[in-house]
Amino acid sequence: MMINTLVRNKVKDLSPYNPIQIESLIKLDANENNYTSTLLTQKIVKALTDVKINQYPDSNADGVKSLLAQRLKVSKDQIVVGCGSDQLIFMILSAFINEGDKMLTTTPTFSMYKISNKIVGGETIEVPLKEDFKLDYFQFMRAIKKVSPKVIFLSNPNNPTGGVIPREQIIKIVELSNAIVVVDEAYYEFYQESMMDLVNYYPNLIVLRTLSKAYGLAGARIGYAVASKEMSNILNKVKPPYNISSLDQVAARVCLENCQMVEGVIAEIIEEKNRLSQELTKLTSIRVYESYGNFILIKTINAKELYQFLLNEGVAVRYFGNGNEGLLTDCLRISIGNKIENRTLMKLINTFYSKEQQNPFFSLKVGGS
Ligand code: PMP
Repeated sequence: MMINTLVRNKVKDLSPYNPIQIESLIKLDANENNYTSTLLTQKIVKALTDVKINQYPDSNADGVKSLLAQRLKVSKDQIVVGCGSDQLIFMILSAFINEGDKMLTTTPTFSMYKISNKIVGGETIEVPLKEDFKLDYFQFMRAIKKVSPKVIFLSNPNNPTGGVIPREQIIKIVELSNAIVVVDEAYYEFYQESMMDLVNYYPNLIVLRTLSKAYGLAGARIGYAVASKEMSNILNKVKPPYNISSLDQVAARVCLENCQMVEGVIAEIIEEKNRLSQELTKLTSIRVYESYGNFILIKTINAKELYQFLLNEGVAVRYFGNGNEGLLTDCLRISIGNKIENRTLMKLINTFYSKEQQNPFFSLKVGGS
């Protein structure tokens, strides 16, 4: 039997989402937090011994929600916890998108919005960012008017560019569209500006956050959505039961109970990012984009060679290709590692460019700064 003939049309031409997992000594390719705290890990391991692994987990992730509610000053029933914010993206689209409905977002942005939308049968409309990777606000508003999207996704700060959308513009988008507006604040802790205070004001607003980035729990898969109670009720209709394992709930609780341990790390990552950014800016062959995340996007005509050189030296960064990646052509995204990792990276980049400059065919032009 040809099972392929039975696959839904929208799914047929999708490829499995296989994040590139590269063995490297220094991993700066997935916007993780490399400042792992042994103390925090020990606390998690200790707490795990009390888990009743023979029983189903709390489907409601109540303990995690209580801690989040306290911190965020919202009520527990405004929070939905997902197996990573990835799952929440999928749940939001499953709840609102009928076959052929339109979802509006920017390009480049986080790829899972479009992939998940395709799976649920929606059509994705992408408004290109400007050449400096800022939102083209007027084009975006025009697109809202033209296509009447049902759902809008805004990554703020944006992965992979690091850029942000001014609050007033997001408010206008929430007010003037008849859409569910999702503000994905996966990198909020590095930016510190949020739309969270407006979830009680706008019933069509959803704020997404995660413990994968600043909190260093990418392996535990904990994301959360905060919205009006009405919205949370809707999202709970499409939430798979027991979506967060008891082990992950424990890890999340311990992490949230000890968040003071993480706060110092966030400050250090921001400081390191600023320092690395300054160093990179000194290189004339690299264009550095301002980033409010825990990563920096750069553009250089030697992106592929630099990526390969770094990889050969044991450092993985994210390469976006040099052909069909649109605005990301010749770009590399570098996650901020710990101090030693960042210094090693910078040393290697300097070595690479000092070698390149001896090459008579070396061209310096990348434009902008
Ligand atoms: N949103 C954005 C903008 C991201 O960059 C990521 C991770 N790369 C996610 C959501 C998903 O994060 P997670 O599923 O680990 O919570």
